[in-house]
Amino acid sequence: MDTGLVAPCKRSATAREIWGVTCIPLPISVTPVPDELLSGWLSRLAASNHCEVADLLAHIGIDAKYAAALDFDLDMLAADRISVAARFDPAFVSSMTFAAMPEAEMRLTAQVPFQACTSCADGGLELRHWRRAWAFDCQICGARLLPKADRQNGAAVSEKLVDRARRGARILERVAVSGSARQLRRAMRAVTFAMGLKALCGDPFFALQSPRPNIRLFCLAAIASAQSRPLVKAALCSMDIDVYARVALLRAYDKEPRLLATVDQIAQRMRLRVGGSATSSQI
Ligand SMILES: [Zn+2]
Repeated sequence: MDTGLVAPCKRSATAREIWGVTCIPLPISVTPVPDELLSGWLSRLAASNHCEVADLLAHIGIDAKYAAALDFDLDMLAADRISVAARFDPAFVSSMTFAAMPEAEMRLTAQVPFQACTSCADGGLELRHWRRAWAFDCQICGARLLPKADRQNGAAVSEKLVDRARRGARILERVAVSGSARQLRRAMRAVTFAMGLKALCGDPFFALQSPRPNIRLFCLAAIASAQSRPLVKAALCSMDIDVYARVALLRAYDKEPRLLATVDQIAQRMRLRVGGSATSSQI
């Protein structure tokens, strides 16, 4: 990433009073990069002006304990005050946040950073697309995004799993953009099933944002796997005597008893077929 991200701003440096608060432009402004997230930009802005983000927000009259909250809820007043302090257009400041989203997209967008590009994250840079559960490769440099908490930088993960997970991530993006409730249900059913196999509890939407690489990758790979004959694959798993497979089935098809019954029927037919061929081979 280009390190020339800090630039003296040439726009108007005039102080303005906004709703009783006199906003004074900061001595140093910072040029945002395409797709930069507001909270990350505010952090860089604060660092360049040798202060903490909380102090910067207090200085410009914004009552927010955490800058990250502004990524999802920025009113016009706050946008105006930031725009004067940083000398950027308020509409541009607003464009660095997540606008109102449909519920599914919101649940697939992390409230806190969970992954980053190690090549581009220098200097506290944070991009909007990194927060999406379906984001897999950095849109700036193409490198694979890695979990923030992963000290091994993904070295222990198999390439086969990474490839499958990348396919699952592309499918998840298509599903999220399409807004199809049926396709989303199918994808999340696959994630729930994968969680069951791994004996994991919790919200499947959070599992897709897990800082533990094996969990996130396994769940994304499950979405790719569920694109063809998901019921047969579930039946194959359920034929194992592994209790986790049964728990996974019950959790994934909890609200769809008809599908669960179908999986059981397929498994039963498979068992009969296997049993039949074993008998005939014994004869
Ligand atoms: Zn990058």
